[in-house]
Amino acid sequence: MIDLRSDTVTKPTDAMRKAMAAAEVGDDVYGEDPTVNRLQDMAAAMFGKKAALFVPSGTMGNQLAIRLHTQPGQEVIVEQTAHIVRYEQGAAGALAGVQLHWVAGTRGLISAEQVEAAIRPTDPHTIQTGLICLENTHNSGGGTIYPLATIERIRAVAATHGIPMHLDGARLFNAIAATTLPPASYAQHFDTLSVCLSKGLGAPAGSLLMMNDLALFERAKRLRRMYGGAMRQSGILAAAGIYALEHHIARLKTDHVHAKQLARRLQRIPTVKVNPQDVETNIVMFEVIGHRLTPPAIVAALKEEELLINSVGGTKFRAVTHLGISTAMTEQAGEIVARLLGE
Ligand SMILES: *Cc1c(COP(=O)(O)O)cnc(C)c1O
Repeated sequence: MIDLRSDTVTKPTDAMRKAMAAAEVGDDVYGEDPTVNRLQDMAAAMFGKKAALFVPSGTMGNQLAIRLHTQPGQEVIVEQTAHIVRYEQGAAGALAGVQLHWVAGTRGLISAEQVEAAIRPTDPHTIQTGLICLENTHNSGGGTIYPLATIERIRAVAATHGIPMHLDGARLFNAIAATTLPPASYAQHFDTLSVCLSKGLGAPAGSLLMMNDLALFERAKRLRRMYGGAMRQSGILAAAGIYALEHHIARLKTDHVHAKQLARRLQRIPTVKVNPQDVETNIVMFEVIGHRLTPPAIVAALKEEELLINSVGGTKFRAVTHLGISTAMTEQAGEIVARLLGE
C-alpha cells in the first residue's frame, strides 16, 4: 500500500524504537522525566525560546496558546482554511470561549494589510481582538511557506496594536528544511509557537509549545494539566522526539523532491489540474475536473490499486509525501492515478 493520506501515518523506524526503549524516564508531572526535560531544552534552544512544553498533540499546543493569550469573549484572527478553523472540533469556542475571525487567504497565507483590516477598533461596542494565529507551512493551502518578510510585516502591525501572535508550526520543520532559514528566524516573531514531532519527523506522538515568557510557561503547564495533557513516563515518547530532531529534519527535503515529482506526473493527466510550481514542500493539492467518477469513487478506486489519497472537499484531493515513501513509490503513485483517470 502506498499511503499518501498524510505525513501523520509515518511509523517509528527501528532506530527510533531503540531510542524509545532505552529512554530514561520519570514522572513528568513532578518534572522528573529526564528525557522529557532534555527534549524540551533541546527544542527551546533550537528555536531561541526560553521554554518548551511537551504536549500530546498539535491541537493541544494550539489550544493552550489560544487559552493563554485570550479572555473569553474576545476573537482570534486566523486564515479561513486554517487547521484551527477546520480540524480542531471548535475547541477555541468550546474551551477558550473565543470566536474566530476568519480572513480569506491566498493558498492559506494572509497579508499584513488583511490583518490590519481585521483588527477591531477599541470602540466600547466592538468585540476585541485577542490574538493573531498564523500557520506555517499551511496545510490546506498546499504546504505553502510564509515568506519571512510577510511575517515581519504582520508582527509590526500586531505590535502597534499590542496583540500577541501564535504560530501553528505543525509543519514548520518543512519550511525550515525548504528555506534553510534558522528555526529562530521564524520563532522570534511569535509569542508562542507549536511544532509537531508526529508529522514528517516520524515520531509516534507529541508536539512542543514554546515561549519566552516564563510566567506564561507556568500557566501553560497548569492548563496542560486541565486539558488532560499532563503525562507521566512520557520520556518514552520524548525519546522518539529527540531522535526525530537529531535525524529526521534534513531528510524532509527528500519528501519535497518527491512531492514535486508527483505533481509533475499528475500535471500530464488531462483531467487533473495541478501547478507543480505551487508545490513548495511535501503536500500536493490537485483537482480532478470533468471525470465520470465522483471524488469518493476516485478515492475508492485508487484504494483498490493500493494507493491511498484523501479527498479534501469538492473536486480537490491531497497527497502528502513522508519518510515512508520512496522515489519508486512516488513514481508508482503517479502511474496509478494516470491509469485510473486516463491520459
Ligand atoms: C496536524 C496539524 C496540527 C495538529 O494535529 P494533531 O493531530 O492534533 O497533532 C495542527 N496544525 C496543523 C496545520 C496540522 O497539520
